[in-house]
Amino acid sequence: NETMTAGEKNKVLDIEKIRNDFPILNRLVKGHPLVYFDNAATSQKPAAVIDALVHYYTHLNANVHRGIHTLAEEATAAFEATRDAIRGFINAAYREEIIYTKGTTEGINLVAYTWGRQQLQEGDEVIISGMEHHSNIVPWQIVCEEKKARLTVIPVTDKGELDMEAFYTLLSEKTKLVAVVHVSNALGTINPVKTIIDAAHGKGALVLVDGAQSSMHLDIDVQALDCDFFALSAHKMLGPTGAGALYGKKQILEAMPVFNGGGEMIKEVTFEKTTYNELPYKFEAGTPNIADFVAFRPAIEYINELGKENIRKHEDALLSYATEKVREIEGIKIIGEAAHKASVLSFVIDGVHPQDIGILLDNKGIAVRTGHHCAEPLMNRFCIPGTIRASFAVYNTLEEVDKLAEGLKKAIKVLK
Ligand code: PLP
Repeated sequence: NETMTAGEKNKVLDIEKIRNDFPILNRLVKGHPLVYFDNAATSQKPAAVIDALVHYYTHLNANVHRGIHTLAEEATAAFEATRDAIRGFINAAYREEIIYTKGTTEGINLVAYTWGRQQLQEGDEVIISGMEHHSNIVPWQIVCEEKKARLTVIPVTDKGELDMEAFYTLLSEKTKLVAVVHVSNALGTINPVKTIIDAAHGKGALVLVDGAQSSMHLDIDVQALDCDFFALSAHKMLGPTGAGALYGKKQILEAMPVFNGGGEMIKEVTFEKTTYNELPYKFEAGTPNIADFVAFRPAIEYINELGKENIRKHEDALLSYATEKVREIEGIKIIGEAAHKASVLSFVIDGVHPQDIGILLDNKGIAVRTGHHCAEPLMNRFCIPGTIRASFAVYNTLEEVDKLAEGLKKAIKVLK
């Protein structure tokens, strides 16, 4: 897996230099330099990604796969090159296992609507967890309701970890699929997905990993994990919005029925019978989001260049420092104190609504997310309406964390 190790190990990252690659970090918000701590919602984009978008529309724009003219060939090559980059990034065995999607949400829906509708029967069970994003809950609710299958939920402990004992109790021969988030967007918990996958396979169940948050922060090796599906979004990993990928094991994808019908996903169409295209195109109906897939590749290359291990080291330093700083502030309670966490600090403040804090921080140019983070059942689990969430990326600094801590102290003073 050459691309994953492309970044020089143990390189001390030059964060100032990295910051210069992200033009948006130069802007002011309400007269203050932007402090962007909403990275779990979407990451900012380096100039290489923005330039690739402009370059595509300036020099390459054409529809892909169909044309024999120069622009069509060049656009197709650039579009398909990203598939190879994603393959390398997650160490999939074959490029055909990478299905282009709009993002994680579409990837999960694709599996629910094709594999789920074909495979699930009355009495079957699908296991999700209590810390899923709505996009890994609702598609399973829909298909389970339709197929009269049962949806069960791994409980979350007070520390914000999965209750693994409860998981082993839920898992049975009835389980057909386990769909679980790799890194929680709301708490930052890193889940033991390899253990879950091995246990599920032991009962003959497949596993879908929601990699929306993990793909930017953890090394992903789908072959080592042995997951059956893995979904990711480009926009959470320095790439453009509207592009993502679903990885699936080749044999499983080949046996799955098609998703959307239309151009590109067919081999031959007559009114009597249509035959479908091969992988991955069988799942890619219609003109895709060409420019954004083209611009996704420089994002992957940027991450590879920095090296995941180096990125993680910096993000871990930010997270520990922020955790320490926030813990010192009276009245703040951190939600989610898992032993293994990535880049997310979620907390509540006694007697203060998260949204009011969000507004006051924004007045200082500090962008955090407040609310339920599309994980309402998880918020209900902790009996809270939502949290204040600061989520970190490689371009954030310790000085920015200081600004957050100061901003919080001032906001609390105003509100209390
Ligand atoms: N899963 C998790 C854990 C997420 O954090 C998100 C986005 O916030 C999603 C799924 C959905 O991703 P997207 O909106 O890019 O489809």
